[in-house]
Amino acid sequence: MNKKQPLRPKPGNVVHLEDYDPGDTGGYADKDAARELLKDNRDRMRELQEVLWAEHKHALLIVLQAMDAGGKDGTIRHVMHGVNPQGVQVSGFKVPTSEELDHDFLWRIHQHTPPRGMIGIFNRSHYEDVLVVRVEKLVPEPVWQARYEHINAFERLLTDAGVTILKFYLHISRDEQKERFQARLDDPTKNWKFAKGDLTVRAKWGQYMAAYEDALTRCNTEWAPWYIVPANKKWYRNLVISSRIVETLEKLNLRYPDPEPDLDQVVIPD
Ligand code: AMP
Ligand code: MG
Repeated sequence: MNKKQPLRPKPGNVVHLEDYDPGDTGGYADKDAARELLKDNRDRMRELQEVLWAEHKHALLIVLQAMDAGGKDGTIRHVMHGVNPQGVQVSGFKVPTSEELDHDFLWRIHQHTPPRGMIGIFNRSHYEDVLVVRVEKLVPEPVWQARYEHINAFERLLTDAGVTILKFYLHISRDEQKERFQARLDDPTKNWKFAKGDLTVRAKWGQYMAAYEDALTRCNTEWAPWYIVPANKKWYRNLVISSRIVETLEKLNLRYPDPEPDLDQVVIPD
């Protein structure tokens, strides 16, 4: 196993997930070693998000994809902790309704893309339409095959409209999933997170990995990059994702808008 694989595969490169170690911790020894860094990232994210909101020029879209128990909910809880809720919108995508299925697959997604000034988080996304839909054969192959290009064009459209896109695949191992499922079964407060159907999906692990590899290969564009996040260790996953978000927001060169002229001459009447 080559642990030196970059987190961000080069656009055009074919992704082989077995080259990526889900247990990698980037050289950090343990949670304590990363604690301060995560805190710094959150503090910085809070500052940047305020300027993003004030400037009202850009939006950030964070896409989270993973197998069941991969850590999507935990990522949202930990990484966005402390960010002003008014500036964040989280959208989860479940099995489509019959109304949604009567439209093109991006129709329901487009309604949830973040407006200027906002951070949007997708807990699952349009990628389900080339993952579960492909593996479970919910549509004929030519239909899902055409979707990679549709997705790339859609993400290009969003980018051109001022939405910066970051896509994270939370990479856990099959063993780690088993442990997390077991915890969901053992802890009554976690039972609700477990569905027996999750085991049907788990049984097709290999097919899902193949579908993920195709999505990570074919939709890894310059304008909407995929990051493959080692996610067995939750603290490292949080560190990696928060670092990428901070780095991305920094690059936007966010600025508070110019004040109205002559504010220094304003006298507030009693
Ligand atoms: P959860 O995230 O555990 O609440 O589960 C949501 C379920 O909805 C998962 O099993 C997803 O695979 C499924 N899902 C999401 N989007 C789609 C889609 N476009 N087509 C079919 N199933 C979907
Ligand atoms: Mg579930």
